[in-house]
Amino acid sequence: MNTNEIMALDKDYVMQTYGRQPLALKEGKGAVVWDMEGNPYIDCVAGIAVNNVGHAHPQVVEAICKQAQKLIHTSNLYYTEEQVRLAKLLVEVSPHQKAFFCNSGAEAVEGSIKLARKYTGKGEIIAMENSFHGRTITTITATGQHKYKKGFGPLSPGFKHVPYGDLEAVADSISDETAAVLVEPVQGEGGIIIPPEGYLDELKKICHENDVLLIFDEVQTGFGRTGEMFASQTFKVTPDITALAKAIAGGFPMGAVMASEEVGSAFQPGDHAATFGGGPLACAAGVASIETIKNEGLLIKSRENGAYFKNELKELFQDYGQVEDVRGVGLMLGLEMDIPCASMVDAMRDAGVLVNCTADTVLRFVPPLVISQEQIDNVTNCLDEVIGRLAD
Ligand SMILES: *Cc1c(COP(=O)(O)O)cnc(C)c1O
Repeated sequence: MNTNEIMALDKDYVMQTYGRQPLALKEGKGAVVWDMEGNPYIDCVAGIAVNNVGHAHPQVVEAICKQAQKLIHTSNLYYTEEQVRLAKLLVEVSPHQKAFFCNSGAEAVEGSIKLARKYTGKGEIIAMENSFHGRTITTITATGQHKYKKGFGPLSPGFKHVPYGDLEAVADSISDETAAVLVEPVQGEGGIIIPPEGYLDELKKICHENDVLLIFDEVQTGFGRTGEMFASQTFKVTPDITALAKAIAGGFPMGAVMASEEVGSAFQPGDHAATFGGGPLACAAGVASIETIKNEGLLIKSRENGAYFKNELKELFQDYGQVEDVRGVGLMLGLEMDIPCASMVDAMRDAGVLVNCTADTVLRFVPPLVISQEQIDNVTNCLDEVIGRLAD
C-alpha cells in the first residue's frame, strides 16, 4: 500500500479520533524512520517519548522474538520468570520497592490513585492545572485541561486542581479527606513545563507534614528522558508512588505502578488486577529496554546530547524574535513560539524531521536517547530554515 491508500482506508474504517499527519510509517532504525515511499525522517517524536532506546534496537527485538516463541501470555493466576525479573530490575533502578504491572499510562495513573486511596482510606486527590494524565474517565478528571474533558461528563468525584508551581495553593487545598497530591515532575503535554527551583522538594514536605501521599506521574519523564532513569532522581525528590509507562518496554505497550514497601503493601490479593498486566512478552521487552538504557550509557547521552540540543535551540532563540522560550531537561525539550506551531510541524516534516506541537505553541523535542549530534545538527539547521522563512 502507499500512503494515500492507507489514509483512504483509515478514513473508511478507523474512528477518527486522531488529527493525524499525512504520513504512513513503515520502518525505523535508531533515531530515523521511513515512510511507505522510502523517505527518511529524523524522529524527534519517538512515539511521544516511547522509543527511548531507538527504533528496532537489536537487543529489544531479540528479546521479543525469543519470548514470543516460548510464551506470549499467561494470566496473573500464575508466576513467570520474566515478570519477577522486570520487577527486580525496576526496583534496582528506581527509588521504590514494589511494582504492579498494567498496560498503559492512564492505567498506571488509575492504579496509583487506587493505591493511594486504599493506603490512606481517604478519597480526595489534588492534581495540577495544565497537567495531563490520560484518557480514561478518571484520568481526564485528574487532567487539568478542559479540552480533554469536554463532552465526557459526568466525571469522577474527588478531584481538586491547583496551579502547577504554586505551593501555597496546594497547602490551602489539603483537607482531612486528602489522600494524595498527583503531579508530573515536568509537565509534558502541557508544554514542557519545568518545576520552579525547590518546588518538588517543598511539595514533598507539605505532603508529609499533612500525611498525604505524593504521586509522581513519570509516564513521560521516565526511563532516561530527563537525564537520569527517573525525574525523581534528576530533581532528587522521592515520591511515595510513581506511575510509569511510555518508554518502559522500548515501545511494547506496558505500564507500571511503583511504590514504597509500606504503601505497596496496601494492595492485598484481589484488590487490583489487569489481565494483560506484566505478561511475559511485555516484561521481556521491558528487561531488554532498561538493560539497554543502562549498558549503552543512554543516561549520559540524554544529559550530554540534551545539553547540546538545548544550546543549539537557544541560538535560534537569540536569532529570532518569534521564539518566545527554549526550555527542558535532558532530551525533553520545548521551543515555544509566539504563534501556533502546527504549520511548522508540516514544514519540518517536508524537510525530513518529525516533531510535534503541544499546548498549541510549543514544539516538543523528545527524540530517541540514541540520537547523534550530527542528527541534532540536521534538526536545528532545518528548524533554522523553517523559522527563517516565517521571519521573512
Ligand atoms: C502519555 C501520558 C499519559 C497517558 O498514557 P497512555 O499510555 O496514553 O494512557 C499519562 N500521563 C502522562 C504524563 C503522559 O505523558
